[in-house]
Amino acid sequence: MRPVTDTLSLSSLTPPVRDAIRGALLSWFRAGHRDLPWRRSADPYRVWVAEIMLQQTRTETVREYFDRFLARFPDVAALAAAPLDDVLALWSGLGYYGRARNLHAAAREIVARYGGRFPQDAEAVAALPGVGPYTAGAIRSIALRQRAALVDGNVARVLARLFALPLRPQEADGRRALWQLAEELVPEAPEAADADNDPGDFNQALMELGATVCLPQQPRCLLCPVSEVCLARRQGDPERYPPPRPPRQVPEVDRVTLLLCQGGQVLLLRRLPAGLWGGLWEPPTGEVDPRGPHQALQRLCQEQLGAQLPVERAQPLSPFVHLLTHRRMRFQPYRLEVAAVPPLHPQGEYDQLRWLDPSRPAALGMSAWVSGLLGRLHTPRRVCDAERTT
Ligand code: SF4
Repeated sequence: MRPVTDTLSLSSLTPPVRDAIRGALLSWFRAGHRDLPWRRSADPYRVWVAEIMLQQTRTETVREYFDRFLARFPDVAALAAAPLDDVLALWSGLGYYGRARNLHAAAREIVARYGGRFPQDAEAVAALPGVGPYTAGAIRSIALRQRAALVDGNVARVLARLFALPLRPQEADGRRALWQLAEELVPEAPEAADADNDPGDFNQALMELGATVCLPQQPRCLLCPVSEVCLARRQGDPERYPPPRPPRQVPEVDRVTLLLCQGGQVLLLRRLPAGLWGGLWEPPTGEVDPRGPHQALQRLCQEQLGAQLPVERAQPLSPFVHLLTHRRMRFQPYRLEVAAVPPLHPQGEYDQLRWLDPSRPAALGMSAWVSGLLGRLHTPRRVCDAERTT
């Protein structure tokens, strides 16, 4: 049985209310909206890339990356043909690198199974790597003009307020109620291209409203095209909806990382493809050791490089913190300069190595903490000073 609140909210969605919301939002959206690069065409590839980038990432950040990505990989065939390293290099700094790996895997699948044409079938779209319900809804409604709903953070906030839904979007009952509302609201795909109802425009209008008018704090209700039917506004305190998520404890993780320098170059290793930062390049990095930093570095060299190095000479550098949504990473970097190194064999977490001049960053996939560390420390005489090598 559905929760009472769910039933109450859905019962507010009568056909006249539904039609009023659809009409007002579509007119408002068509009268003017932000000019975003991915809105200039309904090409499924562009819509797909944009929607993957927009997950967990601010629109302004995506703007920078989107044009560069499309210039380098203009279509699905170009993306599928590229090495994963190149894709990760262009994604560097955008975070959540699993998105880039999935995008690449899905491009290869589209080329192999569908001849490079984006699948039209709902099940086939949903089965592509990295395409969840939100992305599938966006691709189907915006690019394929199919009746498909979507709920992202902005849409969740708008719907929770319109229907005064007292459920958290992150929890199962809240998620279910929001999706149900979104599915009821999204219009049928029109027969004629210029018909009034358009599921893609409607979904984009909902997202646009959440991004520009129905803001998390101080929503601009006076400018809102659906204020007449908004239950939260009528109650006088729209910010009550949706209820905030309870504070959560983010675990702290400590890591040691070794800047191994030789002849002005620093050693980078490529992580195995899966998992956090999979496929990205970083200095050898591993767990701390309760016995002390030298033991941690020794183990790191043995387990990840298959080598013994004079880690007792390693110099500590300033520690730093890198925040992820699900954990707080504390890094303690060490610098070790050597005149020569024994043969190194990337293993454990890594599958490749290369030496990099930190003053001349190469186009490599790197997490923000790695480029930050190399950038902060790239003064050759400070970090990898060949003249000071002992
Ligand atoms: Fe959001 Fe206010 Fe519009 Fe309601 S009236 S949807 S709270 S901006």
